[in-house]
Amino acid sequence: MNQPTTRRALVGAFAAAALLGAGPALAQQYPARPITVIVPFAAGGPTDVLARIVTQRMSRSLGQTMVVENVGGAGGTIGVVRGARAAPDGYTLTVGHLGTHVSNIALYRRLQYDPQTDFEPIAPLGVNPMILVAKRGAPATVPEFLAHVRANQERLSYGHAGIGSASHTAALMFHAATGTKVQDVAYRGTGPAMNDLVAGQFDYMIDQALNVLQQVQGGTVLGIAVTTPERLPQVPNLPTLAESGLTGFDVAIWNTLFAPKGTPQPILERLNAAAAEAMADPAIRTRLTELAVQIPSEAELKLGAFKARHAADVARWVPVIRAAGATAE
Ligand code: ASP
Repeated sequence: MNQPTTRRALVGAFAAAALLGAGPALAQQYPARPITVIVPFAAGGPTDVLARIVTQRMSRSLGQTMVVENVGGAGGTIGVVRGARAAPDGYTLTVGHLGTHVSNIALYRRLQYDPQTDFEPIAPLGVNPMILVAKRGAPATVPEFLAHVRANQERLSYGHAGIGSASHTAALMFHAATGTKVQDVAYRGTGPAMNDLVAGQFDYMIDQALNVLQQVQGGTVLGIAVTTPERLPQVPNLPTLAESGLTGFDVAIWNTLFAPKGTPQPILERLNAAAAEAMADPAIRTRLTELAVQIPSEAELKLGAFKARHAADVARWVPVIRAAGATAE
């Protein structure tokens, strides 16, 4: 081992020991200043909206502001890398989802974080179904829309929030299931992508209901189908893809609040309790239900409980997504 490496290792060990030793004291005063919450996608999209609803309520319990910072780009990997490398002191948290913390394992050859070992889950923030939406004027029924995509695949384009994002993952599976290949348009989040779909800049997108319901209900985009096995009460007229014959396509997107690994247990517990309080608040529950977010149960909200779900989803989805194609550096 050469000398600089040895010194760096020693400094690292001392820093970690200092942080561990300071753990109980730090945790008692925690939180002593505002907490940054990295949302790895653009403002106004579903991850952002969900994060703001929940963290505003958590701020009340914690007695400190939680400030959302949008760090979009590269399918969320830029923001998530920053979150993974942040000091494990409870002051920089990250909102991850099925894209950043599962799909990216399958799609990035050189992913610079390990979604399972670089983070400690604080609490799940809910699961949100996805909806296939198209620009106004597209063929409206599922069979017509599928025929349209099959017939015009060289001319059409679809939007997503970067390789590995939820919208990209769902589209990969949609194209694999329909045997189509369509040009993509990448955004830093589906908030800006939705603006462009409303303006008719591209043809379709599959995104979380949270980002789509209002536009479908307002008629600014055309709702085609939902990706879950059951129809959604918020848009009962929309069929499921499954009932239209496109099966094996049960996609819903979880979002989870993470801390960097090494965050002291009392801080994780404090944050988890604040998240559980937010999820138990009737006003938050009403708002999330309007947005078709399935609220986590008390058992799912227990600190650490998310790890098993995460591991199961990595095992279930990574091979499927790899098989569906596309890789990034
Ligand atoms: N819905 C996006 C995704 O496809 C992310 C976002 O903008 O919240 O992953």
